[in-house]
Amino acid sequence: MVQKSEKIWFDGRLVPWDEANVHVLTHTLHYGAGVFEGIRAYECADGGSAVFRLEDHIRRLLDSAHILGLTVPFDKDELVEACVEVLKVNGFSSGYLRPLVFIGTGAMGVHPGDNPIRVAIAAWQWGAYLGEEALEKGIRVRTSSFTRHHVNVMMTKAKACGNYVNSVLAKVEAVKDGYNEALMLDTQGFVSEASGENIFIVRDEAIKTTPLTSVLPGITRNSIMALAAELGYEVLEQLFTRDELYIADEAFFSGTAAEVTPIREVDHRTIGQGKAGPVTRLLQQEFFKIVKGENPDYASWLHRYEI
Ligand SMILES: *Cc1c(COP(=O)(O)O)cnc(C)c1O
Repeated sequence: MVQKSEKIWFDGRLVPWDEANVHVLTHTLHYGAGVFEGIRAYECADGGSAVFRLEDHIRRLLDSAHILGLTVPFDKDELVEACVEVLKVNGFSSGYLRPLVFIGTGAMGVHPGDNPIRVAIAAWQWGAYLGEEALEKGIRVRTSSFTRHHVNVMMTKAKACGNYVNSVLAKVEAVKDGYNEALMLDTQGFVSEASGENIFIVRDEAIKTTPLTSVLPGITRNSIMALAAELGYEVLEQLFTRDELYIADEAFFSGTAAEVTPIREVDHRTIGQGKAGPVTRLLQQEFFKIVKGENPDYASWLHRYEI
């Protein structure tokens, strides 16, 4: 269960955790037309703290809102500042931030009328999303019976609340069947992404990830691509099939929550050696150095703050 913090930022004010409530006739609660972000802050080696790629996350939040036609009553700078404020007021030198933009009460038809657009930013402590052991040993994955969104059914560039019905269906199915995560295929049958993570495969030192068609443009995905290129790897954005994944030397998921999580098995096929491979381990290690401020080359990705 999520652990309570002191305050939540809600429509421009800091309110006590227990008072950050909405009415049951909140439009987004019924129809799903809201957008959100997941952002992590890390404690740095020098004792300070840093939010990882905060400005990029807020830009994507505003992009997601724009795609859904939601006019956010706060600008980028205000939201960036609010995120840092939430971490500080709760005394979090590290933690997870969850900004949410949603349509409030008023009209109850599908057309939201002039219902207010509301914004909340909560923070809580969240360890390794799929478990510490998952980061070390890798996870077991099944191809979902649910297909990832068609690009003209849902807006796949938006991190939209409603898009997550598909993710919840896939995730619950996978967990019920004894797996850690679901792999979804796109409407053409190519590998797409997981319930909330992008996917990478490695074969013969070349790295491949799904192009930005049916997948969310992950900020971790983008970070890993930049890092891998800098480390001298060839990085391709190319469609691939599930059997290409089966015969990969290595595979891993990327996401703010899941960070860099190795995949050790897919549909009962062992991937590579059945544990985190050397490329995955290197990227994971270097990724954690960057987020913790141990690689000055990537200082521009960190929004530093002090508690
Ligand atoms: C949030 C999310 C990701 C990962 O994006 P990050 O920016 O790396 O956190 C991947 N896929 C989906 C569907 C997501 O919602």
